[in-house]
Amino acid sequence: MPEHTALVFKTSANPNPLPEASRLAAFQDLGFGTLFSDHMAVVRWSAETGWHSAEITARGPFAIDPASAVLHYGQEIFEGMKAYRAADGQAVLFRPEENAKRFNASARRMAMPELPTDVFIAAVEQLVTMDAKWIPGGDGSLYIRPFMFANEVFLGVRPSREYIFCVIASPVGPYFKGGEKAVSIWVSEQYTRAAKGGTGEAKCGGNYAGSLAAQAEATEHGCAQVIYLDAAERKWIEELGGMNVFFVMEDGSLVTPPLGTILPGITRNAVITLAKAAGLTVHERPYSFDEMKADTASGKLREAFACGTAAVIAGIGTVKFNGGELVISGGQTGAVTRDLRSRLVGIQRGQIADGYGWVHPIAGI
Ligand SMILES: *Cc1c(COP(=O)(O)O)cnc(C)c1O
Repeated sequence: MPEHTALVFKTSANPNPLPEASRLAAFQDLGFGTLFSDHMAVVRWSAETGWHSAEITARGPFAIDPASAVLHYGQEIFEGMKAYRAADGQAVLFRPEENAKRFNASARRMAMPELPTDVFIAAVEQLVTMDAKWIPGGDGSLYIRPFMFANEVFLGVRPSREYIFCVIASPVGPYFKGGEKAVSIWVSEQYTRAAKGGTGEAKCGGNYAGSLAAQAEATEHGCAQVIYLDAAERKWIEELGGMNVFFVMEDGSLVTPPLGTILPGITRNAVITLAKAAGLTVHERPYSFDEMKADTASGKLREAFACGTAAVIAGIGTVKFNGGELVISGGQTGAVTRDLRSRLVGIQRGQIADGYGWVHPIAGI
């Protein structure tokens, strides 16, 4: 395989006016993932030349051949990360090398080429630098979506010999419309998300395509998200469609499902570290839905929350399933959840000292 370090991004600036008259107005009521910044980073890969043609260019459509491999067999992976305006005005990322590492783990699982970590981070940094005016102030952030897809023109089941890596950015407000309110989740007994040996650990688009029918079921039942049980026994709680899950017990300890078939969340990892630093015991162990029902009834289960880059930490107030409903912490976001959330958000936004080297300032903006 060719060497690709020191790829230089060719940049062509294409600044557009912000969509509203004033920056402030433009960043109100952002919602999530509907508004995009002016540019995108693109790097191409082919079996012959490896990674090449790195550029920051005007955001716009790709011309895709109808026989492009991604359109048929779904060889596609992605990441999700955020740029923030820290308290001191600096633009910062949160643990971007972890996203780069996980991106490559996903690439290996989907038989795609790995992208050098320095190229991944340079693409993100240069895009954010170019589109710095799109980083919202206040509680907002610039959501960054690196992704890679197969783009060889052929119809056959084998790894593509061409790929496009791209990064786009979207200024966002809170992920859930209710803001800090606890969310309700639906336990899917019909659908599963991941089996051992499958793609549950990879951040690939196909996992999300497979989640949409379950998500529709959740919406029908008035729930914001789905929580999945394991595929083998339909017994153990795994995670939400796009977030990991934690349970807070009456003795103050935390329980979270172990890695294996779930997505290894960077937020999950940060929560475990922060909880331990706050003196809480964290058990990474299988937790069954039956145990959850019993623990809710007995009062042993005090709080539950979901976590991921998009929503950061969201309290779970209600859990609905066929034949019943559990109400956790009176349907509110619990105190331990709120405390962990403010510790994490405080570090991410530079309001609390970062003792872990997690915050990654982008020089010069
Ligand atoms: C992205 C994702 C998460 C959260 O990962 P973070 O690194 O914390 O953003 C959790 N579960 C699934 C299925 C995901 O796709």
